[in-house]
Amino acid sequence: MSTDDKRDSNDSDRKDERYCMMCRRKASDVGPLITIPPGFAVCGSCMQTMMNEAMRAFSAKDSATPGVGEKNESAKKDITDTDASEPEVVSAKDDEKHDGTDDGEDKGKNSGGIPFGGVRFVFQDMLQGERNRVKPKKKVKEEELPDVMDIAALPAPHEIKARLDEYVVGQEHAKKVISVAVYNHYKRVRRQEEEAFKNDVVIEKSNMLMIGPTGCGKTYLVQTLAKLLNVPLAITDATSLTEAGYIGDDVESVLSKLLANAENDVERAEHGIVFIDEIDKIAKKKNTTSRDVSGESVQQGLLKLLEGADVEVPVGASSKNAMVPQETINTRNILFICGGAFPGLDEIVKTRLTKSFTMGFNANLKDTYDNDPDLLSKTTMEDLREYGMIPEFIGRLPMVFALRGLDKEAMKRILVEPKNAILKQYQKLLAMDEVKLQFDDSALDVIAEEAVARDTGARALRSIIEEFMLDIMYEIPKDDTIGTVTITGDYIRGKGAPIIEMRA
Ligand code: ADP
Repeated sequence: MSTDDKRDSNDSDRKDERYCMMCRRKASDVGPLITIPPGFAVCGSCMQTMMNEAMRAFSAKDSATPGVGEKNESAKKDITDTDASEPEVVSAKDDEKHDGTDDGEDKGKNSGGIPFGGVRFVFQDMLQGERNRVKPKKKVKEEELPDVMDIAALPAPHEIKARLDEYVVGQEHAKKVISVAVYNHYKRVRRQEEEAFKNDVVIEKSNMLMIGPTGCGKTYLVQTLAKLLNVPLAITDATSLTEAGYIGDDVESVLSKLLANAENDVERAEHGIVFIDEIDKIAKKKNTTSRDVSGESVQQGLLKLLEGADVEVPVGASSKNAMVPQETINTRNILFICGGAFPGLDEIVKTRLTKSFTMGFNANLKDTYDNDPDLLSKTTMEDLREYGMIPEFIGRLPMVFALRGLDKEAMKRILVEPKNAILKQYQKLLAMDEVKLQFDDSALDVIAEEAVARDTGARALRSIIEEFMLDIMYEIPKDDTIGTVTITGDYIRGKGAPIIEMRA
């Protein structure tokens, strides 16, 4: 009989006898035994001692645990050996375990766990840290992030803009403003964190307000920025927010989202970006006698977040209650960007502009600004006040800028130029079937014209393309002699077929 066999038989003998494998007292003396996978039996008091040991090690932040978390699922107890003079039963199991060359276990053996009664217990979940227990931290793989910029190296505004140019078409002014604002923001954050500047001139936050029609790239701009800078981003809709205590989300829920997107890492969340869309929907309601719980009250509620304060944030919930755990987040270094279409604001701006120029030599005709595409860029704080934003709120968004609606040329460029342009995506899909997909200029014209006519911005492009690409994507894989497909304007208009070329 081999040594291992002997050990196994000893093991089973002991199981029959029902001894505690820690203190070796009989079950009849110590009461019912607890079985730990893969079959160790311990008494209640030894179990308690082990738990106490584990808790003590955890609170003392016994740091010698790298690599422990790699192997097992959380809340599992990993058991490995410590030395040769251990009880047979444990050694036998360990011999089996260490036959392989498992790194994770070797790390556990050498550097982690709590030795007790000849057994080393590794309580990974406890050792991972309190915060991770709410939600285990996902490892961010460097290669998943599309060549991100190093925010610690403070990329200059022109560098940020150059990277935005790769994804966002047009909107030159907006990209310039946002690049400068982000550069200043993170410069300010760094300066604040440096001890030497603690009592120096305080640089104020550069929160932003973006005004622009739907589908012109407001959200996309912020998303691209956050991805490039590799900072957590929360996108929320102001329409879902209400005053605390009313049906809807509390204003703190925007920070809950940010925290969740930062994998519950408070420090990372505190350097993130919050984008609040549809901000125009929380304008003060006019002619209302009831309490404005989803308008002015929400603006009031957002004030302290925008300004910078310690805020109690519900973790994993949209409103606070006694059952929800909370974290404190300081919003001082969080960049808030608000965006909205502000329908009707152009009329307010136009009225103000024409009123101020109706007399004297510089008098303007009433229709001077009727077709001005840049009207919204002339927006002032006064116009926003008139629209229904309270002065304290707009005062906390010092950078106000407008994005232009997209014209036909911009739409055409959006189809082909960005790094992940929609047409490139379809070309890639068909390339997998070894088919070359082409769009001639007339096709681009028709798609762009149709998108402009739908008046939903660049969002319309995808739906138009999906409509006519459905047949192509269905038919082409049927025939593996097809080499090239050219989409024409006539095909999109329904007046002909695409040009098909066979493989050589
Ligand atoms: P909104 O201004 O309403 O927030 P989005 O930013 O969500 O609009 O735009 C919708 C989609 O249209 C984006 O996901 C993006 O693919 C595309 N898009 C919009 N504007 C641009 C642009 N200027 N450059 C490239 N793509 C754009």
